[in-house]
Amino acid sequence: MTQPSPALAAPAVKTTCPYCGVGCGVLATPDGQGGVAIAGDPEHPANFGRLCSKGSALGETVDLQDRLLKPMVDGQASSWEGALGAVAGSLKKIADRHGPDSIAFYLSGQLLTEDYYVANKLAKGFLGTPHVDTNSRLCMSSAVAAHRRAFGSDTVPGCYEDLDEADLIVLVGSNAAWCHPILFRRMIDARNQRGTRIVTVDPRRTQTGEEADLHLGIAPGTDTALFSGLLVHLADQGKLDSRFIAEHTAGFDGALERARQIAPDAAATARATGLAEADVHAFFDLFEKTQKVVTGFSQGVNQSAQGTDKGNAIINCHLATGRIGRPGMGPLSLTGQPNAMGGREVGGLANMLAAHMHFGPEEVDRVRRFWKAPNIITGEGMKAVALFEAIERGKIKALWVMGTNPLVSMPRADRIRAAIAGLDLYVVSEAIATSDSARAKGKKTVLLPALAWGEKDGTVTNSERRISRQRAFLKAPGEARADWAIMGDVARRLGYGDSFAYRSAADIFREHAALSAFENDGSRDFDIGGLADITERAYDAHLPQQWPLPKRGTDGKGRARLFADGRFFTFDRRARFVAVQPPALAQAATPERPLVLNTGRVRDHWHTMTRTGKSQRLSGHRAVPFVEVHPDDATRFGLKDGGFARVSTEAGQATLEVTVTDGVRPGSVFVPMHWSDMTASDGRAAALARGIPDPVSGQPELKATPAAIEPVAYRSRGYLLTRAPLGPPPGWWWARATVSGGSGLLFATQEGSREMALAIRGLFPGQELAEYVDHARGLYRCAVYTEGKLVAALSVAPGDRRPDWELAKQVFAQPDLDAVDRRTLLSGRAAGASAGPVVCACHGVGLDVINAAIAGGAGSVEAVGACCKAGTNCGSCIPEIRKLLPGALARSAA
Ligand code: SF4
Repeated sequence: MTQPSPALAAPAVKTTCPYCGVGCGVLATPDGQGGVAIAGDPEHPANFGRLCSKGSALGETVDLQDRLLKPMVDGQASSWEGALGAVAGSLKKIADRHGPDSIAFYLSGQLLTEDYYVANKLAKGFLGTPHVDTNSRLCMSSAVAAHRRAFGSDTVPGCYEDLDEADLIVLVGSNAAWCHPILFRRMIDARNQRGTRIVTVDPRRTQTGEEADLHLGIAPGTDTALFSGLLVHLADQGKLDSRFIAEHTAGFDGALERARQIAPDAAATARATGLAEADVHAFFDLFEKTQKVVTGFSQGVNQSAQGTDKGNAIINCHLATGRIGRPGMGPLSLTGQPNAMGGREVGGLANMLAAHMHFGPEEVDRVRRFWKAPNIITGEGMKAVALFEAIERGKIKALWVMGTNPLVSMPRADRIRAAIAGLDLYVVSEAIATSDSARAKGKKTVLLPALAWGEKDGTVTNSERRISRQRAFLKAPGEARADWAIMGDVARRLGYGDSFAYRSAADIFREHAALSAFENDGSRDFDIGGLADITERAYDAHLPQQWPLPKRGTDGKGRARLFADGRFFTFDRRARFVAVQPPALAQAATPERPLVLNTGRVRDHWHTMTRTGKSQRLSGHRAVPFVEVHPDDATRFGLKDGGFARVSTEAGQATLEVTVTDGVRPGSVFVPMHWSDMTASDGRAAALARGIPDPVSGQPELKATPAAIEPVAYRSRGYLLTRAPLGPPPGWWWARATVSGGSGLLFATQEGSREMALAIRGLFPGQELAEYVDHARGLYRCAVYTEGKLVAALSVAPGDRRPDWELAKQVFAQPDLDAVDRRTLLSGRAAGASAGPVVCACHGVGLDVINAAIAGGAGSVEAVGACCKAGTNCGSCIPEIRKLLPGALARSAA
């Protein structure tokens, strides 16, 4: 964390974390020199002062390295005038020649609501193209579709307090311990305080599963069978809420009949899901006998070719038991991104219009009149997968990407680069100049420098419908501008200036709030009309509030929960049960591709690492792209823990370090989603995914792609530490990580130690080199000095040795080296104990230190924390610490 200088420290600014959908409040104290100290906001109701490892490290991510600071047109720096003229001129020409629907926007759950609102209005109301979609399509659009089918609206019924009050929390397809860590701490607190039981449903036994009272390691894609079986069980045991079903719902009989076809009893459920029958009974029993149940679900449910059905199978069980909208109970979609919910509110998805309105004729007319929109669209646009396919086909001629990195995150990402090359106009609004998507090129390419977190100003909505402010506390760097202001200028050039004459983010927010209330007589869930007249001052001071916040009826307090009254947003105000389809993905593997590839997140990185990749603390936990393989599959395919494997699918291939773990099921492999061409030679997970879209939501499958795996051998492995990032030579396998004081590469190569010794001389000609040479054993270490200062360190060893660079990184971080440090670099050994790979990112505590604490008598997580502070901040590393404790082994074996 950057420490503020007392003389220059400004007051703390209350803002919101830019990562996951928990939406934690952050206190940011700028130091007046471009840095900032970060702390959790004790008054924010999402986190009450806590931050996870990612949030705590935000201060390490605000530097200007790799920032896009000037507009660029076809690779040349441009004035704003020139860049905006190029965008507006090209859009006009393309719309005239090919029609407005040849233009597409691809937005992001990282955008603020105000930016999102303006993009949606410009495209759908004025340019007249329906093709506006967002990376939230890849994140939670199946939850949106499931909500709409069940409730008639995209409403999250509950809130985080329900987790505090639940007696049973079921987490489906959610590694909350890593992906929503602060919420997970609330769940653990509930367990400690009231004995709340936690059940996880996930093909992987993740760190969340390690902490659960019951882990159900189901076969990929079989969630609908599990929850169909549960519905049948509840019916057969007479545990339904018949009054609620009769008075407030429709479609129950059809849903139950279908559930009986899929999973008529516990034994059939066990067969369909691959679970032990005893575990199925245990789960059914817990759900049946516990009144206060929250079922949290996230990407493991949503990122699926049957994601919408999975969501509805869960919701069916809550509706059937009336466990919805009441304290401590209900389905709870955990959104991945900081403003996925805000994007849904403005209509950023291709199948929404605006303010939770869709495409009924009266809705289109209402929005047209409100916006005074001359070119309002009348139907849905293409969803992300179809949209990029349309670019491939040449149907879309212009694409404007804002705040996202589809070349890394979209399934079949290799094809997307080729598709973009065919665009007549490719516009990227970005903060990072070197992201894969910013480096792609269309026939005309315009890069527009956008404000980043800490510089921009507006609102975000978290997973419990809570609207919070993101506030600026740093000056806009270079020529970067707010996205809404950029779009306003383009709109003016297109002749729509009057409708985009916003002077501030608050101006936009007021209009957005007014639209939500426009002709809304309570028939639409999203209503924040109570904020439509908010003054600039009140907007500046705005405290987190949950919607709905209509003008009348809520005392301006918002609503924590909806649907307790049994009134939904369907035409008859009844919720709908959905007759879901049987699981169809269990046979995803084929003889040529006998494994099932799952993708997801790691604890300390966020999306494509353009921000978390700047933190050396966060880069210390998992430094290279990897594939998790079950021990049986490792034996079957000749793979070693710490070795390399090539994973190939019909969409692409990647070469990854192997982690052998029984946390994945036999027949499954897991690859994290974060690495890009910017950070690794060959590690893009989404490029492997076939991405079959869900038929209802259009969300692509990222959890079950047939895959093959084979070992890959390299002659040498090692690391290279340099003060500035170096481009690795062609042919190396490499992964880049930020290290304190510079940049680090972990690499593997077919070159031997001799060739590497020559190469380092070529990279640093004329510099002082201190070397350790043992070519007979394939060993070479070298430290490079310029005027006595260490500028680089290289270590090469045979290819079957995993490099350990923790010591070298510690030495490299120091400004001045003594003789012991110099010897350490060459010997690879420390005089004292090393820290080992980082386990606790918050306090920078390594594996060796924790092992030493345990060896010294620390017999519990708490005792380890007391010894070395590990696990005492956000708690995300507690499952890993627990695993290191001998007692944990006995506990899991019991
Ligand atoms: Fe940010 Fe972590 Fe909170 Fe998510 S849980 S909002 S990543 S601090």
